[in-house]
Amino acid sequence: MTEYKTKAQKKKFYRSREWETLRQQALKRDNYECQHCKRGGEVTVDSIKTPGQRKEIMLNVDHKYPIEFYPQLALVLDNLDTLCVKHHNIKEGRTFDKILQAKKKKWDDERW
Ligand SMILES: [Zn+2]
Repeated sequence: MTEYKTKAQKKKFYRSREWETLRQQALKRDNYECQHCKRGGEVTVDSIKTPGQRKEIMLNVDHKYPIEFYPQLALVLDNLDTLCVKHHNIKEGRTFDKILQAKKKKWDDERW
């Protein structure tokens, strides 16, 4: 069983072709909408990237059961949920301060 405990292992996973394919399937299944916003009656879709401008809303495909603890569910479509950045951060238990810090980091390596 492949493990996803370290940063490097996770990075490798999120760059894999298998993940990218499954991620696209999840987005499509979820109609490219944040599933948590949807439950609240709101529609949050990914914003269109304008060259030279920062993309404001970004959808994440989240593992309901984190791959760190449930590596066997890493590539299971039912374990995936499309979330907007806000809901993803709430789910991950990040504070607002940390969100701002993360934004400054330009959504690099840990984002998907
Ligand atoms: Zn949302």
